[in-house]
Amino acid sequence: MRTTSLLFDDRVLIDMGTGVGDLSLGAMEAIDTVFLTHSHLDHIVALPLMLDSVGPRRNKPLQVCALKETIETLQAHIFNGSVWPDFTAIPTAETPFLRFEPIVPGQSIAVDNKNFQAIVVNHTVPAVGYLVGSDQGSFAFTGDTAQNKEEFWDVINDCHDLKHLVIETSFVDADAEVALVSRHLNPATFVEEMAKYRNSARVWLTHMMPGFEEEITSQIRQHNSALDFSILKRGDRINI
Ligand SMILES: [Zn+2]
Ligand SMILES: [Zn+2]
Repeated sequence: MRTTSLLFDDRVLIDMGTGVGDLSLGAMEAIDTVFLTHSHLDHIVALPLMLDSVGPRRNKPLQVCALKETIETLQAHIFNGSVWPDFTAIPTAETPFLRFEPIVPGQSIAVDNKNFQAIVVNHTVPAVGYLVGSDQGSFAFTGDTAQNKEEFWDVINDCHDLKHLVIETSFVDADAEVALVSRHLNPATFVEEMAKYRNSARVWLTHMMPGFEEEITSQIRQHNSALDFSILKRGDRINI
């Protein structure tokens, strides 16, 4: 089982789920910047572990960009000296292993030749997706989300060089109630979201409940057989 983590150009991660475990120690050491979508464990679990492994091998802090609320949660519940050391002050406060960078929705942060813009999404805790822009085109990732208002879809639809949209669909329709309270999508609500999608970029599905990938896919096809989408799998590479 692997959870959410997307690697960009070997230098930047969006989210740090167990997918980070597929990287070698050297590959983890090369990562300088992380953008987090939200504080849930399946998106952050590898952060404390990776810092412990590569912190001593690096000569500068890992920069972790996230909403203020996400940072506060991580500081209070993970890097609190009880669950894990406070790596924002280790080995010293001047040159720590970890440095948090609060971001606000709509803000863009440039890393190398890419621009990472946070977009608010609808989840049980404060959460964002990211629009990643580059000279070659753009890439969008929803992170965990339920159905979103037009403001979200306007950003996606107005992105004229968008090449890929990665969107979650976590549950089967039989678990629509669970999806509703945990603010995730299921095939019926995903298809409703796609009715708001007016971009021609390729759509990828992610964050499916393990073992239910085929059922989720076939339920989407039953709702709308004309929808074109792909399933994002462990280790897939996407060229922007
Ligand atoms: Zn979540
Ligand atoms: Zn999640």
